Amino acid sequence: MYPCDTCGRQYRRLISLQRHKRLECGKEAQFECALCHAKFKHKHSLLRHYNVHMADVKKSSKFEREERFA
Ligand SMILES: [Zn+2]
Ligand SMILES: [Zn+2]
Repeated sequence: MYPCDTCGRQYRRLISLQRHKRLECGKEAQFECALCHAKFKHKHSLLRHYNVHMADVKKSSKFEREERFA
């Protein structure tokens, strides 16, 4: 058996392991932020990360308003 040194999956054929490493390994756990392309292993981490952008949007629109009134 050929174990993947990254995720521990085992393959009977070396070519299957190589294909796994090239195409599959680590890919399923990749969640990417559409706004800044930061990558997260877990979906909940990405969702929590989006709050950062939401806060930024609120903050900047507040600043714009304040500037207009100043
Ligand atoms: Zn793997
Ligand atoms: Zn982001």
